[in-house]
Amino acid sequence: MEQKARDNAAGNSNKIYDTIIIGAGLAGLSCANHLSENGFSFIVLDSSDGVGGRVRSDLVDGFILDRGFQVFLTAYPEAANMLDYQSLNLKSFYAGALIATEDGFTRLSDPFKNPSALLSAVFSNISSMSDKMRIAYLRQKLMATTVGEIFSQVDKTILQALQEDYGFSATIIHRFFRPFFGGITLDNTLSGSRRMFDFVYKMMAEGLVTVPARGMGQIPEQLAAKLPQNSIRLSSRVASIDVASSKVVLASGVTLQARSIVLATNGPDAHRLFPHVPLPSSQMATCLYFAAAEAPIKEPLLMLNGAAGPVNNLAVLTNVSPEYGPPGQHLISVTTVGGPGSGDAAEAKENADPLNEKAPLEGAAEAELIAQVKAQLKVWFGAGADVEQWRHLRSYRIAHAQPNQIPPWLQPASRPLKLSADGNEETEGHSIYVCGDHRENASINGALRSGRLVAEALKADLKVATVV
Ligand SMILES: Cc1cc2nc3c(=O)[nH]c(=O)nc-3n(C[C@H](O)[C@H](O)[C@H](O)COP(=O)(O)OP(=O)(O)OC[C@H]3O[C@@H](n4cnc5c(N)ncnc54)[C@H](O)[C@@H]3O)c2cc1C
Repeated sequence: MEQKARDNAAGNSNKIYDTIIIGAGLAGLSCANHLSENGFSFIVLDSSDGVGGRVRSDLVDGFILDRGFQVFLTAYPEAANMLDYQSLNLKSFYAGALIATEDGFTRLSDPFKNPSALLSAVFSNISSMSDKMRIAYLRQKLMATTVGEIFSQVDKTILQALQEDYGFSATIIHRFFRPFFGGITLDNTLSGSRRMFDFVYKMMAEGLVTVPARGMGQIPEQLAAKLPQNSIRLSSRVASIDVASSKVVLASGVTLQARSIVLATNGPDAHRLFPHVPLPSSQMATCLYFAAAEAPIKEPLLMLNGAAGPVNNLAVLTNVSPEYGPPGQHLISVTTVGGPGSGDAAEAKENADPLNEKAPLEGAAEAELIAQVKAQLKVWFGAGADVEQWRHLRSYRIAHAQPNQIPPWLQPASRPLKLSADGNEETEGHSIYVCGDHRENASINGALRSGRLVAEALKADLKVATVV
């Protein structure tokens, strides 16, 4: 289809599109990009005022604040196929982490990527020599295992895999794996999927841990920029859908019709619009941002809490990319995981807005959390860091940061791409296509992949329908 025709389609509520995509997060944008490359007409609707869903950045007082601290792993296979890494200007963290323990800080480095850090890795006091050998073994094993093999192995919890399959000591599990993978899966109990653990570990071994120089929001912005003009309509909340007639009713009352509908929202919103999509329980995260004249550490290194206290991880983002803050100032992100709503689907559903647009953390609760976090960081950094003077910029509490992936959630690794109006998997009649991280796995890679898979299914179905 010609560009002009696509552009006309985008603004015309009488037009019958090939597809209406509900959600301009990474899954919806991935689906749109693959359809666009194949000449299908579509419109992407999103309830919020920007693209990216859970991957967005705000500009506040000259600081770039990602809506919840997150990182981009360059080895993600879907991302490597879709994104232009060079123009994202990716900036890397050092491989490894600085871990706060009851006995002070200890550094765990990846000696394969950071040969100069080999000594600190060998002598770090959180792991025994046998743990270090197991880490090296795990790395080699996962690099020799395909992503497909990882997602088809029998699932169990991360904790079970670390203890039973990999034989790590309680010390390294408590001081390193718990905060590290607790931060990634937003679950400090390590009861998430070992498939996810193996996948992320492999990605970290094979690539870099990065952020785009100007914030994570650059990732969806890059995908959106490749789409035809006017093909994304923001501030357009879908109130209901009718699968049988392929109609979408917006909160404004406007009705749009298409040959197909793609539901590309997060899991709870997909369930609300089409209850046959299972409601995932939610992992919650809270990210506090502070501005400081002096950075408490000088390196682009993730800091983890290997002891008690509210903090899960801390990063000085201006050490990774100076563009995250105005000249001469430092941006510090502090993440806490869990909390009210975590793991509780009912409560997550009740929560104000899964994407935090209504800022559910405020007032006395926010002040109390800031005080608790600062109290812990004063112990970490001592009087010299002047933590009390750090200026709080903004808090993000994301009620549904990730679907809870406690086994057997990721078994099967991919959920059906299309469902009939009554929720059945195999359908000849009217159906709805569903993508998003809750259909694959909770990651940037999972969201991009699920959008592509739905686009491929749609391409085949729409072509058949056209020929018939
Ligand atoms: C704090 C945090 C940390 C994370 N850390 C990492 C990390 O380090 N690495 C990693 O790979 N992944 C991480 N993730 C996970 C990753 O960000 C998500 O898995 C991914 O972004 C999900 O994309 P999605 O497109 O499936 O859903 P979403 O991003 O949720 O997009 C869904 C879109 O649908 C829209 N929508 C919802 N309802 C409606 C409606 N009724 N009408 C119209 N539009 C609607 C929403 O506005 C939204 O834009 C993290 C997530 C969070 C929140």
